[in-house]
Amino acid sequence: MAVYACPVCDYRYDESIGAPREGFPAGTAWSVVPDDWCCPDCGVREKLDFEAVPPAKGH
Ligand SMILES: [Zn+2]
Repeated sequence: MAVYACPVCDYRYDESIGAPREGFPAGTAWSVVPDDWCCPDCGVREKLDFEAVPPAKGH
């Protein structure tokens, strides 16, 4: 599962966690999140501004 980060406040959307507060349960794919969804932390950036976070190396 992928992780996407807000470029302003570093809020992260993790597909495996979802954003239950926002109505996206764990396992909700990023592609399902609406394009006009705003970052819940800063409210400034929209989904299209988020950046994919490369998978962490190692365990
Ligand atoms: Zn943000």
